Amino acid sequence: MGIVIARRNLVRRLAIGVIAVTFCVPAAATAAAAADPPARLPFILRQIGTGVYAAIDGPKDESGSNAGFVIGDDGVLVVDSFFNPEATKALIGEIRKLTPKPIRYVVNTHYHVDHVGGDAVLRDAGALVVAHRNVRAWVRTENLHLFGDHLTPQLKATVAALALPDVTTDKPLTIWLGTRKVIIRPVLGHTGGDLVVSIPDANALFCGDILWRHVSPNIIDGDVARWIETVDSLKTGQASAETTFVPGHGDLANVNDVADFGTYLGDLRSIVEQARAGGVAGDALVKAALPKLASRHGDWTAFSYFAPLEIGYMDQELAGVKRRPKPVAD
Ligand SMILES: [Zn+2]
Repeated sequence: MGIVIARRNLVRRLAIGVIAVTFCVPAAATAAAAADPPARLPFILRQIGTGVYAAIDGPKDESGSNAGFVIGDDGVLVVDSFFNPEATKALIGEIRKLTPKPIRYVVNTHYHVDHVGGDAVLRDAGALVVAHRNVRAWVRTENLHLFGDHLTPQLKATVAALALPDVTTDKPLTIWLGTRKVIIRPVLGHTGGDLVVSIPDANALFCGDILWRHVSPNIIDGDVARWIETVDSLKTGQASAETTFVPGHGDLANVNDVADFGTYLGDLRSIVEQARAGGVAGDALVKAALPKLASRHGDWTAFSYFAPLEIGYMDQELAGVKRRPKPVAD
């Protein structure tokens, strides 16, 4: 109550990989607090299996991304922590309504601040932060790059205060919550430091930003060639037809949605390849490719902002000059 989330344009927020959240407590809001209705959650909690929940970002992007959690025999594992730490606190509140078991882990699917913003809150609640090896090096550096021209002193301070992971890996990792198995796997394509989290006994897979459901993706760090391979492997993987896929952005997905996202990436690549073959470059290339991509996917959320950027990044990838975060050794 009394917390006002200043919401900026969804497209711009997604474009820079973050939401700019500011907090203030206007006197009028404080005075009216007693009469306010109960606060609406900044996400929609959806059960996708026994003790497995997805937290889908609210309709106004209040949380900044999707997250979720798994309740095991002896503890809870959270996947991603949103951008907005207030949303993370609300998630802990929802967990506490379901179980008194300790929150033992938060697994970050990648370093982007819209997925790790509440890690410190979860650590304060007792969780170990688990991430890809590169995330520890990138979380306080590459997130500054992600903001680009939108970086403010306040956002700089937010990034400087992000928690560093406690456990890092670049290999598959199994976490046991008592008898319940959670499998973490590195995957290629979105940042170079992505993990997906599967709960085999619930046929659930948390994909982070390897999967976007009907939302145009942020490919600032992407390797589209590898990304298409990863999406293909998700599509054809064991039990994919029965699997509930939790994307990083957008609603819960099934195998058809995974295929649609693969088609989006494939169309992006082939349309930009055709434009390059036609001898155009720069703005002319974007102008040539955009209507073709729009004719196939123009109804995807954030398309009008993201698509021109995607075309530019795709062109850089095909030219072999794409900037990506550099992998690190331990
Ligand atoms: Zn994201």
